[in-house]
Amino acid sequence: MSQIQGSEVSDTVERKVGDLTVRIDRLLCVGFADCIDEAPEAFALDDEGIAEFGEEIDDVNRQRLVRACEVCPVDALSVHDTNGKPLAVE
Ligand code: SF4
Repeated sequence: MSQIQGSEVSDTVERKVGDLTVRIDRLLCVGFADCIDEAPEAFALDDEGIAEFGEEIDDVNRQRLVRACEVCPVDALSVHDTNGKPLAVE
């Protein structure tokens, strides 16, 4: 597989929250903030207006965290359980 030198091909951050693995694809995120409306403890926008993990993400109820991932209009958020099963499928 070839990679274009000097260009960023991926900017994904991942976080374990209980039995869930939450992933933000920061290249897809366009900063609509729907996820933040849904779970402001779990997500925030950084200086560039791109989603990052919030400091209190561990306090967010599992169902609300999954819901916050579901509402992303560009599918920049994904969430899987320990078996790798995707939980936020629209
Ligand atoms: S809802 Fe999606 S596009 Fe909007 S800020 Fe969250 S991750 Fe980014």
